Amino acid sequence: MQPQCPYCREYLKRSKLPERRSSFQCKACGGQITVDPHQWLFDTPYLTDEQAGYVGFVWQLDRWVFALGSRADYEKVRANLRQRFGVEPGIGDVIWGLMNESILALTEKHNAELAELRRTFGGRIPRDLGTWTVAKDEIKDVQKLMTEFRAFERDVKAARKGRPPRTEA
Ligand SMILES: [Zn+2]
Repeated sequence: MQPQCPYCREYLKRSKLPERRSSFQCKACGGQITVDPHQWLFDTPYLTDEQAGYVGFVWQLDRWVFALGSRADYEKVRANLRQRFGVEPGIGDVIWGLMNESILALTEKHNAELAELRRTFGGRIPRDLGTWTVAKDEIKDVQKLMTEFRAFERDVKAARKGRPPRTEA
């Protein structure tokens, strides 16, 4: 199947997929296209800026903060939300759900780490040790990513409003 520009749907004269993430400009519409051969979030590796942004957040969850961001995690949250909403959830809703699930999982991990410390010290953690855990730092990383994600989605919505409506193919 010949690839198409994700913006204007013009067919792209590209025969081979690059091995790594790269980008180029569409000759027809001038849109900046990101090619990501390893992403699984969209049906095609040829992405708009917006799509590449979503892919980046899932990648960060999985590879950078080491929270829930695998394809299996994504499909699980998507199925849960679909059942709850009664319709297919948006990509942003699923990613936000993944982030919330990550916080819950890390909070459990944090509590388990504290319980382990308490056991080690015979029931009570020495005051000077505090309540720092590895999970606590990981929670902070996910929260930071959530703040960035909210800003990203705000920009996406603003950009959509400023853009003339695209006709559906
Ligand atoms: Zn184009």
